[in-house]
Amino acid sequence: MHPATLTVSLNALKRNDATFKRLAPHSTRAAVVKADCYGLGIGGIIPALLDIGYTRFFVAYPDEGIAVRQLLNARAIPASDYTIYVLCDFHKNTLPAYLEFSLTPVLNALEQIVLWNEQGVPALRPLLQLNTGMNRCGLEETEWATAASKLTFPLAYIMTHLACADEPEHLLNTQQLQAFQRAFAHFPECKKSLAASWGTFLGEQYHYDMLRLGTGLYGAMPHPLVENIVTLTTKILEVRQIDKGAAVGYGATYHSDAVKRVATIALGYADGYPRELSNIGVMYIEETAVPIIGRVSMDVITLDVTHVPEHKAREGGIVTVYGKNYTINDAATDANTIGYEILTRLGRRVTRRYK
Ligand SMILES: *Cc1c(COP(=O)(O)O)cnc(C)c1O
Repeated sequence: MHPATLTVSLNALKRNDATFKRLAPHSTRAAVVKADCYGLGIGGIIPALLDIGYTRFFVAYPDEGIAVRQLLNARAIPASDYTIYVLCDFHKNTLPAYLEFSLTPVLNALEQIVLWNEQGVPALRPLLQLNTGMNRCGLEETEWATAASKLTFPLAYIMTHLACADEPEHLLNTQQLQAFQRAFAHFPECKKSLAASWGTFLGEQYHYDMLRLGTGLYGAMPHPLVENIVTLTTKILEVRQIDKGAAVGYGATYHSDAVKRVATIALGYADGYPRELSNIGVMYIEETAVPIIGRVSMDVITLDVTHVPEHKAREGGIVTVYGKNYTINDAATDANTIGYEILTRLGRRVTRRYK
């Protein structure tokens, strides 16, 4: 088995959930499990979410919804006990899959309302997504009245999504909140969903009836109240000594300024480790930082282990790639991206473990 292992702390996940419950005690919490639970694996995460009491799951695409439904079916859970919302790709060709697997569509266009009028089933109550300023998905404000007049079925929720919730001072937050509030007159009977993880921290006026929580559960956002839940470790394949002036890795981008010991580890960009962290990223052997030297290759990475005692930096020794000392959010900052991408990039060679 490949030695790269992602260990997910389900207790830390539960503590993150408890934080959101404390912040928004009156809102229903739905778990966003798209992209295989942000790369963590639905097979390990969904059982923990069921333990907590989650009954609503969001995925991005119908095939992800089918996978979640099959996982619930395997536990002999009746389809009607759990709602699986699918954010994208509802149209006449995908509709049969929604009906067969009890997937609830998020409607994003007037034609989709018409399609559900004609072929929807009462057992599933769709959500209606409204565009309030992100300009990515959902009905335009000029369409809201028409949408309301066309609806022949009850909606579960109207929803919208914030573009800048991670920047509390951003003007678009209040503009989107106000636009969302203008929709209420059109859908007076309808429940409301606005905030995802970051939005929950904007305050009670953003909470409404249902939170859609992804990254905050999985610890992929840098916020003092959100805990890291993942540790990625791998093995040292070999350690060698290099001379002063020697180059390391593709492109010879690193030149040693002294005699050094270099560890080659079992991880590369094929496993989702950002190549952008070549000569930048840091890993840990126990509590000692070991910097990446040279370029990140497809399958291996080279580390400067000169300062680590030889019995720890040896063939078969363990290196912590992401963990409490250097989190996925630290790696994201250094790689000029976000924790979400670090997690969802993790490759198939990485074994997921849950404890
Ligand atoms: C991905 C997504 C979420 C979850 O967002 P987080 O920031 O991970 O909590 C919520 N709503 C929509 C529409 C999304 O696309």
